[in-house]
This record gives sequence, C-alpha cells and structure tokens, in this order.
Amino acid sequence: MSGAIEKVVIVGGGTTGWMAAASLLKYATDKNITVTLVESPTISTVGVGEATIPNIVDFNRNLGIDEVELIKATQATFKLGIEFEDWYKKGERFFHPFADYGLKVDNVEFHHYLNKLNQQGTKVDLEDYSFACALAKQGKFAQPNPNPSNPLAEYSYAYHLDAVLYAKFLCDFSVKKGVEHILANVTEVNLNNDSGFIESLTLDDGRQINGDLFIDCSGFKGLLIEGAMGIELDDLSQWLPCDSAVAVQTTLVGNPNPYTRAIAKDSGWQWQIPLQHRMGNGYIYSSKFTDDNAAQESLLASIDGKTINEVRKFSLPVGRRKVTWHKNCFALGLAAGFLEPLESLGISLIQTGIAKLLTFFPDKSFNSADIAEVNRLQNCELDRIVDFLVLHYKLSARDDTEFWRYCQNMAIPDSLAHKVEVFKSQGHVVMHDHESFERASWLSMYHGFNVVPQRYDVRIQNVDVSVIEAKLAQMRNSMAGAAQQAMSHQDFISKHCRSRCEL
Ligand SMILES: Cc1cc2nc3c(=O)[nH]c(=O)nc-3n(C[C@H](O)[C@H](O)[C@H](O)COP(=O)(O)OP(=O)(O)OC[C@H]3O[C@@H](n4cnc5c(N)ncnc54)[C@H](O)[C@@H]3O)c2cc1C
Repeated sequence: MSGAIEKVVIVGGGTTGWMAAASLLKYATDKNITVTLVESPTISTVGVGEATIPNIVDFNRNLGIDEVELIKATQATFKLGIEFEDWYKKGERFFHPFADYGLKVDNVEFHHYLNKLNQQGTKVDLEDYSFACALAKQGKFAQPNPNPSNPLAEYSYAYHLDAVLYAKFLCDFSVKKGVEHILANVTEVNLNNDSGFIESLTLDDGRQINGDLFIDCSGFKGLLIEGAMGIELDDLSQWLPCDSAVAVQTTLVGNPNPYTRAIAKDSGWQWQIPLQHRMGNGYIYSSKFTDDNAAQESLLASIDGKTINEVRKFSLPVGRRKVTWHKNCFALGLAAGFLEPLESLGISLIQTGIAKLLTFFPDKSFNSADIAEVNRLQNCELDRIVDFLVLHYKLSARDDTEFWRYCQNMAIPDSLAHKVEVFKSQGHVVMHDHESFERASWLSMYHGFNVVPQRYDVRIQNVDVSVIEAKLAQMRNSMAGAAQQAMSHQDFISKHCRSRCEL
C-alpha cells in the first residue's frame, strides 16, 4: 500500500484518547486527514492521573489552549514539584522541584561546591538554592518570568488537574475543531487476512469504522494492541514493586499546596493531589505485602477531609508493551503500559508517545525502519524512567517493614547501579541519552536519600572555602528574598484563575 494516511481512528476517550485527538487534529490542519474517536458510553475512564510535570504546559500551549480557561475548567492548581515524606527514613522529607539548583561557578556545577563544604564540615542544604523549593516551603506561587534578570529564578511548573474534566475539556476543544466523536463500544477489531493490518472496527450499534491508522487509547486492556495484534506487556514488577492502588477523593482542608505529596507507607506510598475543589488521595502498594482491605483502611485512616466518592481499587499491570507501534496500530497511554505514578509521568508519556508518532508519521506503506526506530526510542525512554523510579525504593534506609526490607535487598538495573556508584565516588551525575529527568532531578534524589560522595570534584580542590561560602550566601539570600515577595498559592489562584464551579 502507498499514499498518504487519510483516516486516523482513535479508540478510547480518556485523557489519552483526547490528547491524541487534539494533537492529531492540529497536525492534520494542512493535510487531507480525518480523525475519528470512538469512546465507550459504558466503560468508564480510569479517572485518576491528576498530577503532571511541566511539559503539559507546553502541550496545551502548542494546541492554542488558553491557560487560564484550562485551569478554571479543570479546577487545576499549580505544582512546583513533589514533597517526599518518610522515604529515606521515617520523619525525614525532601523536595523534588521542577528546577535547577544554584549556579555554575567557573564552569563547575554548583552541587560540587556544596559537596566540598559538606565534606569539610559546613552543613549546607541543596534545597536552599532552589527558588521553586523556597516558594513551595512557604506555600507560595509565582509564574516564572520568561526572561528572568537572575538565572536563579529559572524554574518550571505543572498542574494538578481533574482528570475527568481535562478529558472533557479536550473533547469539547477537539470536537469543535472537527474530530468525529462516536459513542459506541468496539466489539470487534477486523484484521486483513494477508497483512494482519487492522482494516476496521465493528461497533455495537452495527456500524463498521474503516481507517488507515488506528491509535489504541483503550486503557489497561489494550483492545487493539493486545486484543487484536497480540502484543503483550513486558513485566517490570521485578523492578517496580507496587502493583495495586486504592484511591478516594476528599474535601479540601485548608488551602491547596503548590506541590504533590508522596508519603512513604508500610507497603508502598500515598499521594495527595490538591485541586481547587477537592483533594485526590491514593495508596499504591505491593499486593505481596498487604491486601486491599488493609490498604483501604490505611488510606482512610490517613486522609484529611470528608470522602466524596467511593474508594476505588486498581490492579496495576506494571509493564510496557513489547512494542508500542505494530503494523498500523499505535498504542498510547495505559494501553502502551503502566509505570507507577510516583513521579507523575503517565500524562507526560502520552505526550512523548504522540510526539514520536507525529515525528515519524507514516504513509500507507508503514515503513518498518521508522516503526522500529519509534519502538527503540520508546524503550530507551522507559528504561531511563525505570532507573529513576527504582532509585526511590532502593535508596531508602527504611527497614521497619517487610516491604522496605524487600526493597533494600532487591536487584536493580545495572544502569542504575552504575549511576549511583559514580555519584558516590565524586558526585558526578551520569546522564544517558533519552533521560526524562534532568540532572537536577537526580541530584534531588541523591540529596533526599543522603547519598554522600566519598570525595569532592578535584577541579575545585584549590578553591577557597570562604569564597564559596560568600557566593552561596549571596545565592541563598537572593532566593529567600524573592520568595518572600511572592503571593500565596491560594491568593495567586483567587486573583488569576479561580474556577467558577465548586462542589
Ligand atoms: C492509580 C493510578 C494513578 C495515576 N496517577 C497519575 C498521575 O498522578 N499523573 C499522571 O500523569 N498519570 C497518572 N496515572 C496514569 C493516568 O491515569 C493515565 O495515563 C491517564 O488517565 C490515561 O488513561 P487512558 O486514557 O490511557 O485510559 P482510560 O482512562 O482507562 O481510558 C480508556 C478509554 O477507552 C475506552 N474503551 C475501553 N474499551 C472500549 C471499547 N471496547 N470500545 C470503545 N471504547 C473503549 C473507555 O471508555 C475509555 O474512554 C495514574 C494511573 C493510575 C492507575
């Protein structure tokens, strides 16, 4: 087959389906491509996935979505990072900001200077050199100045948003712009006998939907990629122990924090994601070390506010598709796999998946080299993310429960072991290709988990400690001063983007 793709069919109307629809429609603006989205009227979306990372801001902006309108429509709040509590040890905390720390001095990264001071007995805290950390600590928010006079003020932000409202917002946006929206259940996926390509979908209202390219956004079950194409998951549970979750929404008590809370618990961890009108709570855990009832009890015992929905349980297939693109079927979102939400990456992975599809957008010949390259890139990206996630468990010093003792002793990927060993030596951060997390994020983790290098970078051997101290004091003061002047997160929302409807 040759010629340009003319019809794209998306199955699934969750966050993934509508993000894909909006993006494909934009891509199709100057092309002869139609986009159809089929969504079940009876199968609900997963309804969680409310903490994001900063690339969502660009995603919406590129679609031409007005930020304030989006925030109001999705009851969103701002997110400067994640507060990790009880991870390294019970009672200890650290913050992972969407920002760098300090400034390079004489072309040597900032953290090496901190390392030198620490080694020489002066206690210094990495978080004192991040403006985002300073804002978060004070419950404040300011939008980054696109051209800051001071590079210390460079940081990013993301949102906490209502997952259902976000999908609805993108649905209205996409349908207005021309996506054909069909509410029906897909009952059959019809393959060409010779090529094995998907030719059409049969719907429960009897309709037949033909297409050239099919995007599977049907959630965990992977209706097309697994159900029809037979592409299974590669299990990753040997690295990522949490395979179950319970979630519940509660009323908001007090003002929303400008960050997500991730609190380590006996057999996993708990999230708190504040929106303008409610709090999202969940406990994600290993079914090997606790059961659903105990997890539910534990969750309900540790939430503030009144519950406003039933507790929902999730069984989580931890893994990734062996390939995400097979013939004319491209899997996105939960259909492509599931890595646990500790660093809020689900939505970001939808974005990066869409970006790969658009970069290598096929014609009807479906070039196999392009497909192989997308699958390679996808796997590289996920390998690096797995490293980062595993680190949270492996580096914990907790040994107070079976679960944490298991984590301390579990095997980890060689790539992660190498990174940690290199950092432990002289404080260098190893970065591979296709890292989703920047150097600063790795530093946050090493700092938070108290990984102390054995010696400092020899390049700064002769730098006078008092000179370093003076520079650090300058940075610290400038950041603390700037944070002092910012508005509280709540005041910022009330002034600029208060949602109209409340519960
Ligand atoms: C416990 C948990 C916590 C998470 N936390 C985060 C987080 O904090 N941040 C983050 O970024 N991500 C998070 N995620 C991931 C995030 O929830 C998902 O990436 C996101 O919701 C996208 O889901 P989806 O659209 O792929 O699937 P779903 O929401 O399951 O949507 C599937 C769609 O397919 C449709 N469908 C299914 N079968 C058929 C059929 N036969 N015919 C027609 N339509 C069909 C359904 O009706 C639905 O519309 C979390 C996930 C879980 C499970």
